[in-house]
Amino acid sequence: QPLSVSEYLRQHIRTVPDWPAPGVQFRDITPLLQDPQVFRVLIDAFVHRYMGRGMRPDVVAGLDARGFILGSVVAYELGVGFVPIRKKGKLPFTTVQETYELEYGSATVELHTDAVRPGDRVLLIDDLIATGGTMMAGKKLLEKLGAQVTEGASIVDLPELGGSQRLKDSGLALFTLVDFA
Ligand code: AMP
Repeated sequence: QPLSVSEYLRQHIRTVPDWPAPGVQFRDITPLLQDPQVFRVLIDAFVHRYMGRGMRPDVVAGLDARGFILGSVVAYELGVGFVPIRKKGKLPFTTVQETYELEYGSATVELHTDAVRPGDRVLLIDDLIATGGTMMAGKKLLEKLGAQVTEGASIVDLPELGGSQRLKDSGLALFTLVDFA
């Protein structure tokens, strides 16, 4: 029985218990990037989907910071531009901002005001969906600028945290490769 892409990728994700805080199972995707053969399978999984008929976005937006690694390569392969959604205080030009709640406190993300144009169809990428708060904030930023987020994509989904369901309930289509219970 050949391994599915999902199983193959899962075998190259490292779980680090109790990091960065007790009780958190950190799903570390760096081993996927480190092995050139695995990295290619990973990127091709996204590229094949978004090269498809009617699926090619106008722009790829990546979420700080692992979304930059994936998103920029996917954008390059699709032949479209890449824009970074950054944590507050990193972008030099005028920005739109969105603040969202974390387990303890809050976080703010920013996007350059000229990053996308009204009507642009945007693919939003991160490495992992937990509560979905980060991806939701990214979607709101893009929508503030009049863009349309056609899909959210990540390597990992943690469905038990309910984030992917909340994102779907908000009308965002999702494409994820590996679930961890
Ligand atoms: P959330 O906003 O709760 O969906 O969290 C998603 C963001 O936090 C992503 O940018 C992830 O890189 C990071 N993250 C949250 N939980 C984990 C986890 N268990 N393992 C690895 N990264 C995580």
